[in-house]
Amino acid sequence: MSKYQMYIAGEWVDADSSDWLDTMDPYRGAAWAQIPRGRSSDVSRAVAAAKEAMTIGPWATMSASQRGRVLRNIGDAISQNAERLAEVEVRDNGKLLAEVQGQLSAVAECWYYYAGLADKLEGASIPVEKPNTVVFTTREPVGVVAALTAWNSPLWFATVKAAPALAAGCAVVVKPSEFASASTLELATLMKDAGMPAGVFSVVTGLGSEAGAALVEHPDVAKITFTGSDVTGAKIAEAAARTLKRVSLELGGKSPNIVFDDADLDLAATGVVSGIFGAAGQMCAAGSRVLVQNSIKDELTEKVVNLARNIQLGDPMDPRTNVGPISTPPQYQKVLDYIQVAEADGARCILGGKPAAGPGITEGQFIEPTIYTDVANDMRIAQEEVFGPILSIIEFDDEEEAVRIGNDVAYGLVAGVWTRDVGRALRMSKSLDAGTVWVNTYRMYSYMVPFGGMKRSGLGREHGREAVYDFLETKSIVMSTDINKPSNAFVMR
Ligand code: NAD
Repeated sequence: MSKYQMYIAGEWVDADSSDWLDTMDPYRGAAWAQIPRGRSSDVSRAVAAAKEAMTIGPWATMSASQRGRVLRNIGDAISQNAERLAEVEVRDNGKLLAEVQGQLSAVAECWYYYAGLADKLEGASIPVEKPNTVVFTTREPVGVVAALTAWNSPLWFATVKAAPALAAGCAVVVKPSEFASASTLELATLMKDAGMPAGVFSVVTGLGSEAGAALVEHPDVAKITFTGSDVTGAKIAEAAARTLKRVSLELGGKSPNIVFDDADLDLAATGVVSGIFGAAGQMCAAGSRVLVQNSIKDELTEKVVNLARNIQLGDPMDPRTNVGPISTPPQYQKVLDYIQVAEADGARCILGGKPAAGPGITEGQFIEPTIYTDVANDMRIAQEEVFGPILSIIEFDDEEEAVRIGNDVAYGLVAGVWTRDVGRALRMSKSLDAGTVWVNTYRMYSYMVPFGGMKRSGLGREHGREAVYDFLETKSIVMSTDINKPSNAFVMR
């Protein structure tokens, strides 16, 4: 069994309490490593080191170009160690090796992207209407950043939070999910070797209710960036409000994947399958509701069922596997519970609906790809996030009804639209409550493209240039060049 330490203030340490948590291999259903169970004293050390690095140095005294160089070295280190990182990630959360390998090349590129941006975060010179006055703005790092991440893509989340924050000159303390912390600790090793000064990037492991809550409450944290469920997100926003911390939240979804009768149905069926059975449906952007125009409902359903029936479940390390295990025991139970809910509400199961069995499939971790028809949009299975391989098929008549049903949920993360009609694609994109609309494609991510949710799916945007401004404050410097004439003390200038 491997044993990881935490990375705090440039040192590898046990928790102050010397307590440990087991971390599971979801495919084998057994613990494979231990991580420290950090609590508030561990968090305090990490935050104090981050504050010192940001205010006294060396991070604060390095030029933006030097900071960018460190970020570039991190991208190189990730590329050179991609094989090991991928193996650790798969071991820890059961994601497909092929998917993690693809993600890792984007992870390295993302570090390069923000490395390049680090020395281009310029202020402005403002030609104010006042006489004899010079005004300019500067961009300053917001302060110590707390990054809390979910278990389904830990390396990706740590990167899309830490890379822009570090490019902005902030220091970062990451609290990864207790279910999958190992890859973030491996990333810390690479960052140290890449020349990241001590204290600028720390990783505190532990439970959300202990280490996570202590980090969010810490008075010296200026900004929280969180990826996880809407329930935890709401708690974090509440805690942030008490100390007026800046907060951005990447939360869940109940996204509509909408197929019109003029779409290429083979393409759409593949997009539907990828949108809900990819990563065993354990993705915030899962297209868990397929909205299908009634004239093509039978044809599309048949195509989707045929594709889903042939999905190869099994070992995530095996290149022949399409779908791996459910990542955590509580998540496995949650998916089973939703199967009961769907059936109790009268949805008709046309595929799956039970734990999977067979060669290469470990007991207690796999669920068959599951499809329900006769789903009404007000059923719980159509309203609540399952985060598993469960698809609901819902019919609509026309564009107006597709928009109404599509938007009739609490969430607003992404939407898919399948049509050959460009006008319709644009009308739908404008009307849907979603931070991202994918047209004739699904699950197309890029670190360059802003991503985030409307409504209960979150606050703020990650990726792209926009993300870096979340970690910066604008300061206005207003100077008078007229120093000879005293002014009237009682009149605003
Ligand atoms: P979660 O909310 O249970 O946990 C997320 C993180 O918050 C973990 O690190 C956890 O330890 C921590 N945490 C839990 N309680 C806390 C508390 N009281 N104070 C501080 N931290 C706390 O979510 P999860 O089960 O890890 O992830 C699944 C959820 O994440 C799904 O809802 C999914 O949709 C969402 N998600 C969203 C995105 C996105 O980009 N929008 C991406 C992936 C996952």
